[in-house]
Amino acid sequence: MTIEQLHQIFLQYPQVCTDTRKITPNCIFFALKGENFNGNDYASQAVESGASFAVVDNAEVAKENKMILVNDVLKTLQSLSRFHRNYCKAKVIGLTGSNGKTTTKELITAVLSTKYKTVATKGNLNNHIGVPLTLLSIKNDTEIAVVEMGANHLKEIEFLCGIAEPDYGYITNFGKAHLEGFGSEEGVIKAKSELYNYLIDNNKPIFFNADDPIQRSKIEPVIKKYGYSQDNSQYYNIKLVDADPFVKLEVEDITITSQLIGRYNFSNCCAAILIGKYFSLDLKEIKQGIENYIPQNNRSQIIHKNGHHIILDAYNANPTSMKAALENFKEISGDYKIVFLGDMFELGSLAEKEHQYISDLAIAMDFSEINLIGENFFTTNNTLKKFKSFDELRQSLQDTPIPQSATILIKGSRGMALERILDLL
Ligand code: ATP
Ligand code: MG
Repeated sequence: MTIEQLHQIFLQYPQVCTDTRKITPNCIFFALKGENFNGNDYASQAVESGASFAVVDNAEVAKENKMILVNDVLKTLQSLSRFHRNYCKAKVIGLTGSNGKTTTKELITAVLSTKYKTVATKGNLNNHIGVPLTLLSIKNDTEIAVVEMGANHLKEIEFLCGIAEPDYGYITNFGKAHLEGFGSEEGVIKAKSELYNYLIDNNKPIFFNADDPIQRSKIEPVIKKYGYSQDNSQYYNIKLVDADPFVKLEVEDITITSQLIGRYNFSNCCAAILIGKYFSLDLKEIKQGIENYIPQNNRSQIIHKNGHHIILDAYNANPTSMKAALENFKEISGDYKIVFLGDMFELGSLAEKEHQYISDLAIAMDFSEINLIGENFFTTNNTLKKFKSFDELRQSLQDTPIPQSATILIKGSRGMALERILDLL
């Protein structure tokens, strides 16, 4: 079957599923393979549960009813999504960077949806499967698709650009994330810049943070560019007014008070404002989009519990976002400030150095209490309170509860699941 033929079927049954536990009626099931499973084994179950068709790459399985046999299910999913993306008229905004992709994607979507029919990456589905799924969620009347692209190796963003063919792009930042796969910070810059390269090669516009020296140096020679800046009048001016605790900004005499904490969210908001402006939104619509957006899933959430003010940023962590979170926490008011920092993963041979660096940074900031959790932080050289495992921390907090009315920062990699601390406060 050709991609054109498969696309005809998709237009009739425009729901795609890759997990038999989440089959929706009349969807097309794609039998993907993972490390520990082979979707072909579940294809007939998918059809029994209501899928209209199952796309499989096992000839035996394909003998059953309602099966579509292809050479490679994953490649077919990717080709179909690329075909569909070109079939629809929606403009695609590609988004990558080391930190803040999901937040920025949601802010851009919140802003653009005030005027346009917009679809966006669901949650964090930003890889070689997630990007196709996002593209396949584009409807005939969709005007803009905001597509998050993640990577932990070189050439991944280039590959995803080949599928999504973005019309515009934005890179949140170049930071120290996934160093294991990229090798170094230079590796990160090179990898993320694959989005810039795609847009430049195809003569498509780039949105950028003109106050970021790396972005500026890369984008300055480019012709089709739209930047924002706090004070460079060459670019769209947006000023940070306050970040204690919520990011408040000023643009063209309009004040926007976001529900986001953390100075680092300033640039995320700026991107959404700039892109809103580009798409001819009124500043009132932009303001409404940003002010109504509330972060979820442990990303810089503010929580009040038993008299404590808690900044829960336990969704993920790497040296750049850790530093940003600490610097922000230092500026936030509070009489008794406690920090809980959990291990940062995927740092490879730089793990020891980066954990030492972050603990030294935290010490220099003079918080009332610093707690380090995890095997990496445990081996840092200092006299801070250290816990090799979460259980050790739990025991300690049960024995000695923390004083009332503390201001608390909780941050660590996803694998540390530090949101569990909330139950102990
Ligand atoms: P992932 O790689 O998991 O997809 P992401 O890039 O989508 O992550 P978010 O989920 O938006 O990032 O944010 C994760 C955390 O990164 C936030 O909770 C915050 O601590 C930090 N962060 C967000 N924006 C920035 C930024 N612009 N600069 C530095 N750190 C940021
Ligand atoms: Mg994300």
